[in-house]
Amino acid sequence: MRADLHVHSTASDGTDDPAEVMRRAAAAGLDVVALTDHDTTAGHAAARAALPGSLIMLPGMELSSELAGRSVHLLTYLFDPGYPELAAETARIRDDRVLRAQAMVRRLGELGATVTWAQVAAIAGDSVVGRPHIARAMAEAGLVDDPAGAFTKDWIADGGRAYVEKYALPPARAISLVRAAGGVTVLAHPRAGRDWELSDEQIADLAAVGLAGVEVWHPDHDPAERAALLALATDLGLIPTGGSDDHGQLTAHRIGTELSAPDTYDRLISAARRS
Ligand SMILES: [Zn+2]
Ligand SMILES: [Zn+2]
Repeated sequence: MRADLHVHSTASDGTDDPAEVMRRAAAAGLDVVALTDHDTTAGHAAARAALPGSLIMLPGMELSSELAGRSVHLLTYLFDPGYPELAAETARIRDDRVLRAQAMVRRLGELGATVTWAQVAAIAGDSVVGRPHIARAMAEAGLVDDPAGAFTKDWIADGGRAYVEKYALPPARAISLVRAAGGVTVLAHPRAGRDWELSDEQIADLAAVGLAGVEVWHPDHDPAERAALLALATDLGLIPTGGSDDHGQLTAHRIGTELSAPDTYDRLISAARRS
């Protein structure tokens, strides 16, 4: 079973709409694809309606969490999106994302890099607004050569001059809410090295409070990191997963370039049944 369990669409900061993402998943020869937009499940219905052939869409979301002031991404699957407490928290995160993006636009202006909120909002459209939308506005305004150029310490990278924190849940609370909603949580790209990384001890602490898995096969992990994470997952009884973190054009359409082990889909479903 070929499964890519980490993919974004225009429901958050990908460039392809959910139907196009499903089409590309089938074209890449996938059996299972998880749609994991940031802090929203808004793309699921359109993805389901567009499923080609025998492709399975695993419903998911990449949930923003925060530990000791640092951002931690969690891949969540198979939860009930209508579960009230979880829905309320994700709505709060989305509302705060707008305030935070507006604050970053103001800081950019103070630094002499003028983009307007109207430009950013036009690029984001109905999507959950995020830094990639600001980055695209900066590129269109000629402030950086391309959107990737905005993700530096000078601009909107983590800790950058125009960076603003967003509201997020502590990961232990996120894990327990997702479990209460009938789902499972997988720690996303723990060795992606975006400024800082969780320690093995911190991952063990999350395993002790119900984390179900850890993302091992991710484009930002090198072979040594994959081997170490796989060993850690085995030690802690966590399900190792893999996914491309495809964002459409932003990541050169890489869907299907990172896969999970063939039994992963069934293991996640079994774990969700036990939660
Ligand atoms: Zn992420
Ligand atoms: Zn992602």
